[in-house]
Amino acid sequence: MTVQLEGLLKHTRKEDGGGSKVGDRNLQGRFRPRLGVPACRVPTCGWRLGKYPPKGYLVVGELNKFFEEVKDCKKCQLAYSRTNLVFGSGNESAEIVFVGEAPGYYEDQQGEPFVGAAGKLLSELLGRIGLKREDVYIANVLKCRPPQNRDPLPEEIELCRPYLLRQLEIIKPRIVSTLGNFATQTILGKRVSITSVRGKPSQVGKYFVFPIYHPAAALHRGDMIEPLREDFTKLKEFLDSGVELEPEPEQLELL
Ligand code: SF4
Repeated sequence: MTVQLEGLLKHTRKEDGGGSKVGDRNLQGRFRPRLGVPACRVPTCGWRLGKYPPKGYLVVGELNKFFEEVKDCKKCQLAYSRTNLVFGSGNESAEIVFVGEAPGYYEDQQGEPFVGAAGKLLSELLGRIGLKREDVYIANVLKCRPPQNRDPLPEEIELCRPYLLRQLEIIKPRIVSTLGNFATQTILGKRVSITSVRGKPSQVGKYFVFPIYHPAAALHRGDMIEPLREDFTKLKEFLDSGVELEPEPEQLELL
């Protein structure tokens, strides 16, 4: 009960305009907990499901409607081994979206991205650059866990990729930070090595793509933690630089 009340206060505070500036601006009017009703309206929220208050903010709105459309997806074989479809979580109006590879065991169990050890590291790295999880949006290329955490298959990526692209279309971030090879290749649409492109932003359509190492890689190889921290430092510098997106060709024609 204590936990639920804390969660209610947290959500109510956001609704009332408290908390971080990003949260105030972006979440106002989108989250409407009813006082006295200890439940969140967001279908994927663990609080609503009677489990726990959410760690971040899963906001309602266009993303919520889109989640309703895809939540029972059975387009590929992963639908039959998943526990939960892991749609994504965070701020629907985030300036930056992080894209990982696929849910792991804990993500599959809880229905939230990056909740295991890699998620803890991601939260820590975000904190180092002054961001909280509720300031950003986090999703994966695949919404369902591959068995034994095997690599995603090309056909699975092909079938699931439109969901990620639609999420980005709704969120309209300025920066999409891809974590590791699979996410980077999926968003850039070409075969590149993360080692050669990490820390180098490039404009793809309506956002910048900023590839960085995947936190899970740093958990497996201790010597990668420092390069990963460097990636986050560069990401912060790029965020702060305020570099603007170039108009797309069709926009230039209108000028
Ligand atoms: S991985 Fe993607 S395409 Fe495959 S079942 Fe899950 S949501 Fe559908």
